Amino acid sequence: MADQLSGAGLAAASDIPSLDRLLNAEALRPALATHGRTQVVAALRRDLEALRKRALDGGVPRHELDAAAVAARTSAALDQAAQPRLRAVYNLTGTVLHTNLGRALLPDEAVASVLRALTSPANLEFDLDTGGRGDRDDLIDDLLCELTGAEAATVVNNNAAAVLLMLNALADRRDVVVSRGELVEIGGAFRIPDIMKRAGAKLVEVGTTNRTHAADYENAIGPRTAMLMKVHCSNYAVTGFTKSVGVADVAALAHARGLPATVDLGSGTLVDLTQFGLPKEDTVRETIAAGADLVTFSGDKLLGGPQAGLLVGRADLIRKIKKNPLKRALRVGKLTLAALEPVLQLYRAPEFLAQRLTTLRLLTRPMRDIQPQAERLRGVLAHAAGPSYAVEAVPMFSQIGSGALPIDQLPSYGLAVRYAGSGRPGRHLDRLETQLRRLPVPVIGRIADDALWLDLRCLEDRDEAAFTAQLAEPLA
Ligand SMILES: *Cc1c(COP(=O)(O)O)cnc(C)c1O
Repeated sequence: MADQLSGAGLAAASDIPSLDRLLNAEALRPALATHGRTQVVAALRRDLEALRKRALDGGVPRHELDAAAVAARTSAALDQAAQPRLRAVYNLTGTVLHTNLGRALLPDEAVASVLRALTSPANLEFDLDTGGRGDRDDLIDDLLCELTGAEAATVVNNNAAAVLLMLNALADRRDVVVSRGELVEIGGAFRIPDIMKRAGAKLVEVGTTNRTHAADYENAIGPRTAMLMKVHCSNYAVTGFTKSVGVADVAALAHARGLPATVDLGSGTLVDLTQFGLPKEDTVRETIAAGADLVTFSGDKLLGGPQAGLLVGRADLIRKIKKNPLKRALRVGKLTLAALEPVLQLYRAPEFLAQRLTTLRLLTRPMRDIQPQAERLRGVLAHAAGPSYAVEAVPMFSQIGSGALPIDQLPSYGLAVRYAGSGRPGRHLDRLETQLRRLPVPVIGRIADDALWLDLRCLEDRDEAAFTAQLAEPLA
């Protein structure tokens, strides 16, 4: 009583409990059991130090010194620090293959295979037929050849690595002829001229930005030429007064001079997408059939697998590539191979692909599923967002993403949220966007034209209940 009157319930530095006393306190047991003594001691030291500073500065309310209070703060800090940094999110951006959100989602078969490879020894480089040493590429090269019509195949960490390796193995200190219209920069600082330099190859640009002719390639070929190369324009389109030379013609020109023609296909799809109502994209098989001697493409774009760079083509060229020391530096780990194999297997049964390959299922998700879902979720979001916002279910367009088919858009449906109050909406939309981003499973949309857009294409029905559950309460 006297204490409360004299110090208004404030404690002095000398009242702060000792580390030892706290470590033995009942209240600290759960934190010790969860996080271990090392972390708890460190967290307690930080907490006590902060208390001491405040006590010297004027005082700390006495109740903050209770073992229970110290334990609560310590546990909260340690729980927070133990939160995974890499977290699941809802991708409602409308971009299906979103590089910043991890690109392709893997089908269940791949997940099971990765789990097995993670928790059990596997024949990564062990030939089960002979009992001798194996080559990790053997696990997938037959499948890749079957699916692309190529003679041979190999795999590295990503497509940027595939291009680097190909150029270094086949064009070190020699010339590579590329059209000016194809000197692209792909997101994340992949630029053809820079990769070329790092690979030790000399870029010979031909044609102009909008027009390149067969004669341009022909005139550029000299004694130092290693290859003619084509690069998929991926994330931009050259339209209007344009001319480019197709793979078949570039390959014919190259072959007439005894040179290989190579293609960085970027996304590299293995099936004709038009059968699923998607825009036309040259397949790897078509590119090989047109005469390309070597094709590189990504594993986690339209292919729908893990991050990887695939190289397929002529057996002699693949052999040379596999002998290059960079191949060892850029090789994939067992998790990549474990994920890639079942994904490639799915392509053997194209009838089921649109159901079983997650990426394709999302890209082909029908409007008759997405629109009613938007109508169901409209009220949920309206309630969570509160009366300051107006939520509408509206048609919108999704993008495939990751540089595939940049200008084509897929009709979709989703929610548009607008600020219902007066004044400028910007700050209010930012606030809602932040609240959604801070949910246990962050919801990622995009703000454009004074609205927050949530495209529901990638919220599959099986995830809807969990999505709705975390919006049950109004957002704080
Ligand atoms: C995406 C892309 C790359 C890079 O592929 P990653 O797998 O991301 O390394 C290279 N070239 C083209 C044409 C691309 O579209």
